[in-house]
Amino acid sequence: MIRFEDLLEKVRAYSPDADVELLRRAYVFSASEHRGQVRHSGEPYLIHPLAVAEILTDLKLDAAAIAAGLLHDVVEDTLTTIERIRELFGPEVAHLVEGVTKISAIKFLSSEERQAENFRKMLLAMVDDIRVILVKLADRLHNMRTLSHLPEDRRAVIAQETRDIYAPIANRLGMSKVKNELEELSFRYLDPQAYEALRARVDARRRATEGLIEKLKTTIATKLADALVPVLEIDGRIKRLWSISQKLKKQKIEIEQVYDFIALRVVTGSVKDCYAALGIIHQTWSPVPGRIKDFIAMPRPNGYQSLHTSVISEYGTPFEVQIRTMEMHRMAEEGIAAHWKYKEGRVGDHKDDRYFQWMRQLLDIQREVRDPQEFIQNLKVELYPDEVYAFTPKGQVKAFPQGATPIDFAYSIHTDVGHQCVGARVNGKMVPLRARLKNGDIVEIVTQTGRKPSRDWLNFVVTSHARYKIKHLIRLEERTRAVDLGRKVFEKELRRCDLPVKSFVESEAFQKALSESSAKTIEDLYALVGYGTLSPKQFLAKFVPIDQLREKPPEGAVAAVVRRVLGGTEEKITVRGGFDDVLVFRARCCNPIRGEKIVGYITRGKGVSVHSVTCPNVVNLLYDAERRIDVEWDKGDAAANYTVKLTMEVEDRKGLLAAVSARIADINTNIKNMEAHTDEDRRARIDVTLEISDLKHLEKVMKSLRGVDGVLDVERTAR
Ligand code: MN
Repeated sequence: MIRFEDLLEKVRAYSPDADVELLRRAYVFSASEHRGQVRHSGEPYLIHPLAVAEILTDLKLDAAAIAAGLLHDVVEDTLTTIERIRELFGPEVAHLVEGVTKISAIKFLSSEERQAENFRKMLLAMVDDIRVILVKLADRLHNMRTLSHLPEDRRAVIAQETRDIYAPIANRLGMSKVKNELEELSFRYLDPQAYEALRARVDARRRATEGLIEKLKTTIATKLADALVPVLEIDGRIKRLWSISQKLKKQKIEIEQVYDFIALRVVTGSVKDCYAALGIIHQTWSPVPGRIKDFIAMPRPNGYQSLHTSVISEYGTPFEVQIRTMEMHRMAEEGIAAHWKYKEGRVGDHKDDRYFQWMRQLLDIQREVRDPQEFIQNLKVELYPDEVYAFTPKGQVKAFPQGATPIDFAYSIHTDVGHQCVGARVNGKMVPLRARLKNGDIVEIVTQTGRKPSRDWLNFVVTSHARYKIKHLIRLEERTRAVDLGRKVFEKELRRCDLPVKSFVESEAFQKALSESSAKTIEDLYALVGYGTLSPKQFLAKFVPIDQLREKPPEGAVAAVVRRVLGGTEEKITVRGGFDDVLVFRARCCNPIRGEKIVGYITRGKGVSVHSVTCPNVVNLLYDAERRIDVEWDKGDAAANYTVKLTMEVEDRKGLLAAVSARIADINTNIKNMEAHTDEDRRARIDVTLEISDLKHLEKVMKSLRGVDGVLDVERTAR
């Protein structure tokens, strides 16, 4: 356990002007508040905040963050309030302690809905002040280091959370040192048997390997010195167990075949020297094809830069070499923490840097994506990146998650390039927009002015950035359409009630009613009408006597069709369309079921009616392109059942009705109603109403019924 005076020494060493008095007061306060508390290890509780503070000193953080480290458990574990912390240590420290306390209260291993909300909270805290997450990571790191003292079930929960949440976050923030240790410890506690087994195998090779590492280091040092390439540091080590275990699993290979069982690191003084060193190493040993990676020219999304290569030593052993400058090395180890201390000052002062961009983007997405499952999906892509690197025709490199498409590429260039993308050439050949990019692809995007993204793109883009931009534009367009439609519908209604449009909307009474309604502007009002959320009549009832609003006879054929569609009971179903507050219902005429191709139509004041694209009414209804809306089945609603009526032409003979109902029961389908009618000449008709879950189900039922002996034809009929 570090002594407090030693901690102060460490702080003074990198920050001579640090507020030592603040640290001393925080230490004394933490000691007195935690007095009498013990950790699971039986040691006094105080060693934990002290150890957390020490980790923060290793990251060379400022006094406020270290004080927060000393105080981070005081509010959670003692009777002290955050107000008291604020009184004693000022708003900055209190703010940090409060943030850490909030994050600590989050249970991440919960339902997806809760997870999404919890992530949002954490992101907010991080964007607000990144030091909050740095203190939390230090806290988690020390808890992981001392996890063996906890009961076994608690260990598993904490280790899982660490692997799923905190290690990926440390990775995304570029803090590989912290990330590596968290991953290694999670492995040890989540799968103790595999961990110990692998450790034994690695240990068996350790002595021989360490001797080899020394020889290789000496060779590299000599060769680089001969070539006059200045080197600051050469380091060699056996790879971490977690990383080895991942490789064994992914590549299905034996430990002897792992190319980077041994990793050497060469730190040089400049980028030029990095490439020079790479050349010398390739002259000394044969490189393994396909293993050379230039993360200097194309940094990883988290900012990591380095040259990687694997070579075969003169002893036949492959090993990996990483080459980088000292600056890159620091960034690789400490990530945002390094970044932060070089900039001197609050992180909030330069929110333009890549980490903040990343966090802000995630928050934007979270705001846009209301479906928690989808948000978590996005987050997983962001947190567990498996990258693909592709190039612009001018050679600029872009990094993407695995599975990225030309559309993702287009949006990474510019939002407008994405929106107007109509095609893509990859390595000179035209490819479909949904093609998956591969490493090294040269991608040329073809755009056309005025083109708009298709909703279909949402089915295959993988970057949350592209997804967000597409949805955003679609929403804007939908609103424009809704406003336009709403205005027409509203004005028509006014004319029908013999109200002059212009003077009516300018009247004081109208403006007053508007300001009292949920719509704040007239555009909002039109949008509500256009989306079908509000009928003009509902709004006009405030002004016009009810009998004047009484409906007039239908105006011509089209209106009649619409009414027929709307007739009968209303059935609310949700369809995915990005306009959640709209009433959407299946049209009675064609009664579409899940799985069928559908199209939506904005009706008057009743929301969006959804037709099968094969519905004969669709042709008539969709004369008005403006009223057309793209809809798709809501994925979350899979349990729904639809009533479908089938008509069967059958031979008139005994037992057929029983055979039909037995066949239906065989495929686990509920019958709501069944009727038989006899015709002339030994023909009969059976009408059966079934509960059907989707198109596939229906097709199965129909196919199966056609196979019943005596059934001549089966047809789906409208109700
Ligand atoms: Mn703690």
